Amino acid sequence: MIKAKIAFLNKPYDLIVKEVELPDLKPDQVLVKLKAAGICGSDVECFEGKSGEGRYDIAPYTPGHEWAGEVIEVGNDVNIVKPGDKVTGDCVLHCGYCRNCKNGLMPSACLNMREAGFRSDSPGGWGEYLIMDHFYIHKLPDNWTYEEGALVEPFSVGYFGLWGNNGYVDASDNVVIFGAGPIGLCALITAKASRAKVVQVEPLRNRKEIAKKFGADYIIDPVKEDVEKRVMEITDGIGGNVVIEASGNDSAIASIFDVAAHSARVRLIGHSIGRKVPVEIGKTIWKTLLITGSGGVRSFLPRTITFMDRIRGEFKLTDLISHRYPFEKLHEGLKKAVEDKAGTIKAMLLF
Ligand SMILES: [Zn+2]
Ligand SMILES: [Zn+2]
Repeated sequence: MIKAKIAFLNKPYDLIVKEVELPDLKPDQVLVKLKAAGICGSDVECFEGKSGEGRYDIAPYTPGHEWAGEVIEVGNDVNIVKPGDKVTGDCVLHCGYCRNCKNGLMPSACLNMREAGFRSDSPGGWGEYLIMDHFYIHKLPDNWTYEEGALVEPFSVGYFGLWGNNGYVDASDNVVIFGAGPIGLCALITAKASRAKVVQVEPLRNRKEIAKKFGADYIIDPVKEDVEKRVMEITDGIGGNVVIEASGNDSAIASIFDVAAHSARVRLIGHSIGRKVPVEIGKTIWKTLLITGSGGVRSFLPRTITFMDRIRGEFKLTDLISHRYPFEKLHEGLKKAVEDKAGTIKAMLLF
């Protein structure tokens, strides 16, 4: 019987770490020893009680949907990974048998959807060990670091924003990205790796700097500059033909329709649940915009891993990590992430 220290979130601001005995593995399960786990903006919002994504109604739950670890043991029916393998796992867990799943819709359409790291029945990676169904486990290349592995889930959101759901981007595109937080930066890296021209809209100094480091061609400060005017100058009066909203900011969402070119592809990946934002909807009609949301990203992680593997020589993805904490300092790391949202890009727990 393995004993493990695991974090449990009971209610806002009430996170405890306790030692528990792990249950026996079922035939289709994988036991993972955690090595790295990110602290996501969603985790911070749930911790502060500002998001309903973390299910306190069925709490306590173990957060941590961005993780990587080593396989320690596998159930009898598992043959996709073996002990010693480096792995990560899905966040959005679909059932595979409901009507929407059987229709091949995205995992976030699953009528029985669970989310690892947000519910008591699907624990995340803020603990020494994690047990997960092999259905949701993905093998990482042997030569990767665990930190890179823990970046797969957040990277998949930015990557999916451009390339998921029949999206595409190439060297002919002028991509405007609102926000240079972790997701906006992952979208930037994806766009630059695809050789597009990128205009990043971001007011915070440290985030502007890291966007520059990852190759943003232009950076617009929306507090000091007229975003629409600048985008039109940069794009010869045409506008961005790909617009990514990764800031979750109301005025950024409203600006999308001003800076988009005719027939632009607009991809919404920034979180802004629970608010309504006034936008000039007429522009979506006359500009014939194609607006796509992005939900869960299951079945996209293998492709994300391949993409990251091919660009990791060119882009140092671990530069996204601004803070590192040993798991024992979880409370300190979380406190810092809560108090210094602007200064934190990606905080990482290490085991
Ligand atoms: Zn996240
Ligand atoms: Zn389903």
